[in-house]
Amino acid sequence: MAHGLATSVTLSLPAWLVESIPGLPEALPTHESQMALVHRLADRNWREGGGGPFAAIVVDAVTGELVSVGVNVVLGTGVSAGHAEVMALTLAQQRLGVWDLGAERDLALVVNWRPCVQCYGATLWSGVRHLVVAGEGPELERLTRFDEGPVVADWAQQFEARGIAVTSDVLREEALAVYRAYGQSAATVYNARGAGPIEHTP
Ligand SMILES: [Zn+2]
Repeated sequence: MAHGLATSVTLSLPAWLVESIPGLPEALPTHESQMALVHRLADRNWREGGGGPFAAIVVDAVTGELVSVGVNVVLGTGVSAGHAEVMALTLAQQRLGVWDLGAERDLALVVNWRPCVQCYGATLWSGVRHLVVAGEGPELERLTRFDEGPVVADWAQQFEARGIAVTSDVLREEALAVYRAYGQSAATVYNARGAGPIEHTP
């Protein structure tokens, strides 16, 4: 290859998650059951070492059908964009063969915190009609030391204005428990150039 330039990229789910897919429920009818799965995947993900304590799923908002799963794969793949939301949204698009997840179905992205500045855009452009989060606010950055970037203060209203209904505070305390365990571990925080969040607590 002239110049040695890369010409493609592959982002795969970690082996432990691929192996667990046959055991996942085909449908998760409530926000709580959806988020419980997200928390379980997020907690295992950082312990397995492939990425941060983040997971996301795409589900059918009407039936609860599980359409895709994603976890943060930044460390395992060496791709900084490999966040859980990007994985779940992209794998849903791969499975359904569409770039607009809202074109024919009423789909929801379920994730264990308000999306970071990158995933905020990825969610907007994905076409999903619903976003379900465990919470928002500075607790994530305080507990994990991840930098979520300059997300706008009216992020939820901006989603709503574009036809994405936002549901927050689903199993919030359980999300914080995952972040707390992560923050108390020796796991790698991979912010570019070591950029830290604005606020720190001991
Ligand atoms: Zn993100």
